[in-house]
Amino acid sequence: MSSALKKKRKDLVSIIKRHQEAYYLKDQPEISDHTYDKLVAELFSLDHELNIPRSSTEKTLGVGHKKRDEFLSVEHATPMLSLDNAFSFDDLDLFFKRVTDSIKKNRLDFSPEYSAETKLDGVAVSLTYIDCELKKAATRGDGLVGEDITDNVMSMSGVPHVLHLKDNHRHNVNIFHNSILEIRGEVVFLKKDFERFNKHQEKSSEKLFANPRNAAAGSLRQLDASVTMSRPLTFIAHGAGEMNGVLDDTFKTHSSFLEFLESVGFKIIRPRVKDGQPSNIKTFVNQILNIRESLPVEIDGVVVKIENYELQNKLGSTVRAPRFAIAYKLPSETAITEVLGIDVQVGRFGTLTPVARLKTVSIGGVNIANATLHNEDELRKKGVKIGDRVEVRRAGDVIPEVVRTVNTSNKKRDKNLSFKMPKFCPSCGGKTERLEGEVARRCINGKKCPAQLEQAFIHFVSKKAMNIDGLGTKLIQQLIRENLVNSFDDIYKLNSIQLEKLDKFGAKSAQNLIDSIEKSRVTTQAKFLYALGIRHVGLQTAKSICDTLNRFEELFSLPLEKLALIHDIGPVVISSVSNFFKTRENLELTERLLNEITFKKEVSIQGGVFAGKDVVFTGTLKTLKRASAQELVRKNGGTFSETVNKKTDFCVVGEKAGTKAKAALRMQVKVITEDEFLAMIDKNIR
Ligand SMILES: [Zn+2]
Repeated sequence: MSSALKKKRKDLVSIIKRHQEAYYLKDQPEISDHTYDKLVAELFSLDHELNIPRSSTEKTLGVGHKKRDEFLSVEHATPMLSLDNAFSFDDLDLFFKRVTDSIKKNRLDFSPEYSAETKLDGVAVSLTYIDCELKKAATRGDGLVGEDITDNVMSMSGVPHVLHLKDNHRHNVNIFHNSILEIRGEVVFLKKDFERFNKHQEKSSEKLFANPRNAAAGSLRQLDASVTMSRPLTFIAHGAGEMNGVLDDTFKTHSSFLEFLESVGFKIIRPRVKDGQPSNIKTFVNQILNIRESLPVEIDGVVVKIENYELQNKLGSTVRAPRFAIAYKLPSETAITEVLGIDVQVGRFGTLTPVARLKTVSIGGVNIANATLHNEDELRKKGVKIGDRVEVRRAGDVIPEVVRTVNTSNKKRDKNLSFKMPKFCPSCGGKTERLEGEVARRCINGKKCPAQLEQAFIHFVSKKAMNIDGLGTKLIQQLIRENLVNSFDDIYKLNSIQLEKLDKFGAKSAQNLIDSIEKSRVTTQAKFLYALGIRHVGLQTAKSICDTLNRFEELFSLPLEKLALIHDIGPVVISSVSNFFKTRENLELTERLLNEITFKKEVSIQGGVFAGKDVVFTGTLKTLKRASAQELVRKNGGTFSETVNKKTDFCVVGEKAGTKAKAALRMQVKVITEDEFLAMIDKNIR
């Protein structure tokens, strides 16, 4: 072994050991599970390179999980193995190939079918029923020996004390005397339970948990079982361990066994697919990627298994993992990195938001350099200081956020690095205030504050507002700096000679921008009202208001009582709208703008299924022509585009879909089929 590789291996092992301790003993992981799995995978491949046998690597990794002495030990009759991981579809294909190769090599008479189900991010637990009565519950521990938590699961949701097999009509199961049936699954905190629980903890100044998995682990391994019972834990079954003296045909496949479990009172994993081929499995993985956020439980992957138990047994297991199953790991949503600084951003309505400047870190393939800290209360609660290591989360379209500070308790922390929200606006230097009952601190200078003016312009030209293509943030900043625009109507006075003088502007780009400004002159009342940027007036609210108007100008003197009659409009919106038009500057600006634009009739229906959504089509559609599909989107309140970008809400995928579909997956845009698209549309609006 070369000394460089030797050192690399030694370092890697010590890093893994440290994280095992943080994860298992302290319930305070410093890295995401995904990163941990990758470290382990790296060790395996390094050892392979060094010709170190797999069994030695496994020995090096060791038990990982040291038990707390106070719990009784339980030896598992059948080891609770963990699964091998797949990080890509290529890895998944290798798994399918290994299975078919092995079937061929051993001349087995099987054509494999697969099931796939979400992999819950919880704590693995085994429940043992003797003569159909719950006798023992144990944690996974190191896979061979776990902890006895029988008392702790006794009042847990999803744990039947007795299995009523006799009255089970769907499954005629033969049970012999002293039968043993071991059910395996995960103990989890449902997302909604987790939120409620953490709020409760906060109120009573108790420890907050970083995520549902840590909450589940911390709650389950309580020496005082009554503490566990007071926590909203749920057991979800996903398979069998030891089976002795139980016979039945329904136990021939994984899926039918799960259906049996459900019929005797267990909760089972949903969504799932059964009897699938590799292509179905991959489709399922893609679907899960899209709906991950909306699932009731945190997941970290998809488990793919061979359905047939006989084939499972024939393929068997290595020391570490079964050969008949694999865990496809979904890209992590969190990562740990360092805070380089804390900036304060000023929003459209003057809200001061602390933002952590980060050492760039990749989450799910996207580089993250900034994450919001929301407001000064959150900042204080999380105790984030410059130089801290923090956990950052990026999920879906949500702005990345700092979740928590990691492992700073034993580090000497410099008081000077702690951060206080400024009393004066970082943009205009004006006074800030924080109103009673609000979490936000605000600059009260309105559009006289450069930051607020800039944000107001960005909103005004945005797609759902005046939709001026090609007028991005950089350009707006430049126009303001060069004093070419100061209020919204100045945009309509720009000419190409002025524009050509700007950086990176030629005659062509100047003309393009002039063209899109011209195009934006024709708009709807709702989009215009929304573009004005009145607080609390979103596009839907603007539509509701404009539906009641004959002429836009009516709004200037609309009696409050009439506003109050509008569906969905509450007192906050009413006072916001009425105050806006009471201010002389706003009224004059609106009148000047009305001279520049004209209204077309609102074509989209109110509350159409694609209202405010942007849809992209790719590939060949089965039943619809591309143009008529786009027309359907428009009729249902949406817009359509040719390319997938940040503003895309749906990507409808036909046959031979190419790069657009890939881009959509990468950007976590919701991908749907033509059938799903048609199903979404109201039958009356075709
Ligand atoms: Zn300001």
